[in-house]
Amino acid sequence: MKQKKTLVKIRFGTCSKDCYGSCVFKGYWNDDIFINKLVKAIPSKDHPFTNGFFCPKFKQRENLVYHQERLKYPLIRTGPKSENIFEKISLKKAFDLITEILIKVQKKRKSFTSILGAFYAGNSGLISQYAPLRFFEKLGATITNGGICNEGGCAGLTELFGTYSITNPLQLKNPATKLIVIWGSNLSVSNNHAYYLVKQALKRGTKLVVVDSRCTQVAKKANCFLHITPGTEYLLVKMIIGELIACKAHDEEFLSDHVESESLIFIEDARVERKKLLEQIGIDFQTFQKFVRLLIKYKYHTLFNIGYGVQKDYNGGRIVKSIALIQIVLGNLGKPGSGLIYSQSDFLKPTIQPLQEYIANIEGESKIKEIPLIKLGSFLSSENYQMLFIYNFNPVSSLPNQNLLKRALMREDLFVVVIDMFLNDTTKYADIIIPAKFDLETYDIISPYYIPGLSINIGGPCPYEDCLSNYEFFQKLAWKLGFETSSIFQESEQTIFNNSIKMLPLEIQNDLNSQGYYLLFNNDEVPFNNSKFPTPNNRIQAKGPHFEFGENDLKRKLNLKKNEFMLISPSHSYFLHSQLGQLNSKYLNEFNKIFISTEDVDHLNLEIGSEVLVSNNYGSEIYTLAESSELKSKTALIYSGLSSSSKGNPNVNCFIPDKPEELGFSGSYNSAIVRIKKIV
Ligand code: SF4
Repeated sequence: MKQKKTLVKIRFGTCSKDCYGSCVFKGYWNDDIFINKLVKAIPSKDHPFTNGFFCPKFKQRENLVYHQERLKYPLIRTGPKSENIFEKISLKKAFDLITEILIKVQKKRKSFTSILGAFYAGNSGLISQYAPLRFFEKLGATITNGGICNEGGCAGLTELFGTYSITNPLQLKNPATKLIVIWGSNLSVSNNHAYYLVKQALKRGTKLVVVDSRCTQVAKKANCFLHITPGTEYLLVKMIIGELIACKAHDEEFLSDHVESESLIFIEDARVERKKLLEQIGIDFQTFQKFVRLLIKYKYHTLFNIGYGVQKDYNGGRIVKSIALIQIVLGNLGKPGSGLIYSQSDFLKPTIQPLQEYIANIEGESKIKEIPLIKLGSFLSSENYQMLFIYNFNPVSSLPNQNLLKRALMREDLFVVVIDMFLNDTTKYADIIIPAKFDLETYDIISPYYIPGLSINIGGPCPYEDCLSNYEFFQKLAWKLGFETSSIFQESEQTIFNNSIKMLPLEIQNDLNSQGYYLLFNNDEVPFNNSKFPTPNNRIQAKGPHFEFGENDLKRKLNLKKNEFMLISPSHSYFLHSQLGQLNSKYLNEFNKIFISTEDVDHLNLEIGSEVLVSNNYGSEIYTLAESSELKSKTALIYSGLSSSSKGNPNVNCFIPDKPEELGFSGSYNSAIVRIKKIV
């Protein structure tokens, strides 16, 4: 008998995880196979950032898509809230129940504002994030806004430049870049594609400075490493600027031509208090001087890359803003081989905004009411909210003040619907779970925040018929509520995708269709090369205060009692903000540990491997004590991004205050202080 020939289809894909990479790939699909339809995903070699490799966290995406624990049917709660005990129901029954509750809530409250949609960027596709807003807009419901990531730094930089996107990150490849300063970014873990470019630059002879509170892998490669106390970044900047001015290394012409209120940067002279500041920052004078000498030597050829961890502090936006002052004072902007890399998503905003408005179907005044994402726990504590839809994130892992949030989610009168691919910490509080499609089973457009551009995902077939994309779920729910004739709910996801692509300039459409991605800049392009920035008078706005803020918080950090520690909570190298846990579950035990420096272990007379009680005003949990040579004394590290549905794993976010960062209202994840106590 003649065997049927297997036809493999190639579809462009983009990893939609909330990650610097936005890796572009070609998916090889066999649509005829019963389950394992995605045969392989090959990262694009010709993409100047993806460079032909994925990260170690997510090399095996085929294994996750068809993982045995993936949710394939809707589930309904049969056990108590806070436990993942459910039974299978049909999709029809799930929709009937959700609709019934929705109508009941509307009748009771006489409006839909007590229906809340909570989402973030767990799938960063524009359609995945914003198309559900068609539903919330139609109802006049409430949604979360703001974020938990880089918003503080974006707000700080925008105060200076009128935008937070200033530099083409492909400048990392430019031979004119002679010095790279990596400030607070664990590049080898969080941005391994930039790490690759940095390593290439080092081979070319580019010098590297790392400023961090952890001695990371990239710090070990640095020509100069400043191992600083968390939260003291702006004191370091104050010293550096004082020194640059004393050495007359500042660019007077740049400052007078392009900076408003430039004289205010010079007022606060740090040299008089140098000894005290060095002590507070936790570095010696030689290291400080070495950094300043490198900055002077490579003036106009220095590129800064600032990580998001730097701004996860109450004063995070101002801290990032202060770091940018170094580049401003040196005139290191708008020139090849110089600049400041933070988040680049603002570059394409004018192109993307009309797409977002179309996808969300929000033009002009919206009926939607908004609450800050960071305060979700507080808002849900009120009876004003009766029904909650959660998609694109795992708040019971990622949001601060976990105990408050969990208490709120326990409310018997709050009906919770979660759309996700796996059981996790948040599904423990769901009344109904809808099984979600994977990103590569949906049509979407991704706008990366590191390399400015756009890329696409052409949805491959999902083998499980009850799985829905975010939009498909809300579209079906809209039909159930009687909105099936409304034109906005007649468009399929693919139609929304096609229409969105058609709204783009032809050049972008051609690149997306032919190679799956479009890049705004080539390797050598230098944005703002006339040093005119989008502020009202095109000058950089250098109004202060630059270094006189956050004193009370810093004072508290610098005057810790014997058993108190500044807590930092980076994500683990095999996890990504509570995702990918099913692939890398062998590392879950790492989330049960609290790491401190060897010096502190001895000082507190503690034993490695022993159980300790970690506590502050927000929570208290038992952890296993571990040591780390990466840490400074008085700093404790617990990994965030726990991705587990199992019982008993503590979550670091139970110690994190939900007081937002002051400028961008994002999470102040690195502002917590904890006590460590021996358990006897
Ligand atoms: S999670 Fe890994 S594969 Fe996905 S975008 Fe980030 S680096 Fe790329």
